[in-house]
Formats: sequence, C-alpha cells, structure tokens
Amino acid sequence: MKQLDYIIVGQGIAGSFLAYQLMRADKKVLVLNDETLPTSSQVAGGIFNPITGKNLDKTWLADQIFPYLKSFYSSLENEFHTKFYHETNLYRPFANEQQQKHFLRLTDEYDLGNYIKIVQSDNVDYQQVVNDLGGLYTSSAGWVNVPKMLEILRDFFKNKESYQAQKIDNCQLQISENSIVYKAFQAKRIIFCEGYYSLQNPLFNWIPFNPAKGETLLADVESYNISEIVNQGFWIIPLGNDKCRFGSTYIWDRLDWEPSESSKELISSKISKFLTLPYKITGQEAGIRPTTKDRRPFIGNHPLHKNVYIFNGLGTKGVSLAPYFAEKMLDFLESDKVLMSEANIERFYSLYSL
Ligand SMILES: Cc1cc2nc3c(=O)[nH]c(=O)nc-3n(C[C@H](O)[C@H](O)[C@H](O)COP(=O)(O)OP(=O)(O)OC[C@H]3O[C@@H](n4cnc5c(N)ncnc54)[C@H](O)[C@@H]3O)c2cc1C
Repeated sequence: MKQLDYIIVGQGIAGSFLAYQLMRADKKVLVLNDETLPTSSQVAGGIFNPITGKNLDKTWLADQIFPYLKSFYSSLENEFHTKFYHETNLYRPFANEQQQKHFLRLTDEYDLGNYIKIVQSDNVDYQQVVNDLGGLYTSSAGWVNVPKMLEILRDFFKNKESYQAQKIDNCQLQISENSIVYKAFQAKRIIFCEGYYSLQNPLFNWIPFNPAKGETLLADVESYNISEIVNQGFWIIPLGNDKCRFGSTYIWDRLDWEPSESSKELISSKISKFLTLPYKITGQEAGIRPTTKDRRPFIGNHPLHKNVYIFNGLGTKGVSLAPYFAEKMLDFLESDKVLMSEANIERFYSLYSL
C-alpha cells in the first residue's frame, strides 16, 4: 500500500493551491481528480478586484489578501516560466448621473484612496466604451487565466507522481482514527476540494452552500484597445488579439452546467449598453460557483472524523481567496495554528447529525 501524508480530492483552484503548498512543505500528496466533470475553475473569468458592488464595498480581508495574491501568482509565474496573471486594473464608467453621485460620495466617505482614482469623461483611453460621465479606476485588480494555470499545476503534480485522474468513491473510503485508506493508498489525512460537487458528498452535504450558476461569453471585438477590465455590473476582460470575455450571470434556481439562450441575450444586451464597437460572439461557457450562504469559505475538519477536511466555499472569489487561505490551511494542518473563525466550518457544527 502506498503511504501518503495527504489525499486531496479535486484539482480546481482550491485543490491545486492546497496540494502545491503541501508539496512545498515536503509532504507526500496525491491529488485525485475526476477529469470528466465540468468545473467552476475552468470557466471562471478569473477577476480579482478589491472594490466591488453597488456600494464600492472593500472585499473582505482586501488589505491582507491582495498583497498576498500578487506575490503568490508572480512567484508561480516565475517558477513555471508561464504568464497567466494579468495586472490590468479595472475601469468602471458611471452608468448614469445618479450612480456617479453615489460613487463620488462613497469615494469621499470611505478611505479608498489606495485603490480608487476618479477618471474624467474626456479620457482618451476609454473612447471605445460610453464614457460621457467619466468613472472610477481601480488598481490592484486584474485577472488570472485560470485554466492555463491549472494545466501547468496539473503537469507539475503529474511529474511528481502526485496526480491521478479518477473520481473518488466515498463507499470505498475507509476512515479510522489514525488513517485513511482508499484503494491502494493509505494517507494520514484527506482533504475534499470538490467545489459544487461537495453537495453530493455525504461527509459534507450538511454545510449551507448556496450555489450560483454563472455564464460568460467569448467574443471578437475588432480593434479593441482598452487594456483594463471594464465593468458596469457586467464586465469585459481584454484577452488580447481583439478577443474578449463578457460576463457574467448569477442564477440560483436552475443549477446545471449548460449554456442558455437567456443568459446569452442578457449578457449581450448589458454589454451593448456600454461597448460602442460591434462584436461577434464566438463562444459561451457555464459553470456553478461554490457560493455559501454567509459568503465565507468552508474550511476545517469534519466534526466527527478529525483527519477528514474540507477546503471549499470560495464562491465568486476563488482567485483572490484561494492563495491566502491555502497558506492558512497549511499553517492549520502542519503548525497547529488556529483557523480564522469566520472561515472555519466549526461555525456550522450544530447542523451536523449522524
Ligand atoms: C461563470 C463564472 C465566472 C466566475 N468568475 C470568477 C472570477 O472572475 N473571479 C473569481 O475569483 N472567481 C470566479 N468564479 C468562481 C470560481 O470559479 C470559483 O471560486 C473557483 O473556481 C472554485 O474552485 P474549486 O476548486 O473550489 O471548485 P472547482 O473548480 O469546481 O473544482 C472542483 C474539482 O473537484 C473535482 N471533483 C469533484 N468531486 C470529485 C470526486 N468525487 N472525485 C474526484 N474529483 C472530484 C472536479 O472534477 C473539479 O476538478 C466564477 C465562476 C463562474 C461559474
């Protein structure tokens, strides 16, 4: 039987970063990943943005998470000699005078000076979008090409013989106090990083997920030259070579992985409100985000089996939360550091029953 420190289930952003951190700490890791399943990470826009929403809310833990993610992704790029982290920043043209007033008041009121700068309507950089009122420029924002990054990490795991493409079957999992046995593997611990599929896992299906389907479009926009992400509720990510990604929708009541005509129409109509250039839709993707009721990650031990863990609930912000929390999880697992209570699944132990 092959002896391991950890079995990691899933190779989305969550499982990949956790496996990577554990391997860097010289742990023997095996990632088991079902490659036949559609995943959230494969369709993510990959945006990281410290100031979001209608009220210019500062992202939870922004002052810790954003400096951390910058150094994490940059060092990953250096290690693997591949570019997937794009510090494009982000531009929000004001949609109308009411929004302009509201945003300017909030910018005055909150201490957002580190992140936000006001842009005037005559700025030449934004002539390909409706910019009659000017807008807000957000720094420390950008996007990560998540599929490209995960492919590189998968190759890294494979080269270290730490990866197998297979679906874990809970019926074949033998959990005892001191070990986890799964087929020919014996590990000290197992960590489930299954994204939305956690809802089908009897060990963790009691945690209050609130999954949200989302869709994006791929488009050709001839001569598009805005280098920032443009966001007016719906966003345009410049992918280069006149290619853009448009997104995204939020649907809570029809959870499937299929692209829909209604989302295509909604995204197109919203983008057409502010993009002044013609475009041609070339693709459409759909996924289910592992969002949670209290909008905080689900990290920690199973209430009964102390060597069984979950690393999940990254919701709409996997790209910004995963690097930071993978490190926190490593500290928790290997250095007995306490997990932040807002992220620790202990907060839901009362919901668990045998
Ligand atoms: C349309 C859309 C746009 C998004 N845009 C952004 C964005 O701009 N920025 C951002 O930060 N986030 C975005 N997200 C959210 C982001 O995708 C998620 O936060 C993140 O990808 C979740 O990663 P994960 O690893 O938890 O789950 P997943 O990516 O779903 O990965 C789970 C993995 O587990 C595997 N698996 C599951 N069950 C088993 C099993 N039993 N055995 C073996 N393997 C198993 C699956 O095959 C999969 O590889 C978006 C999501 C969607 C749908």
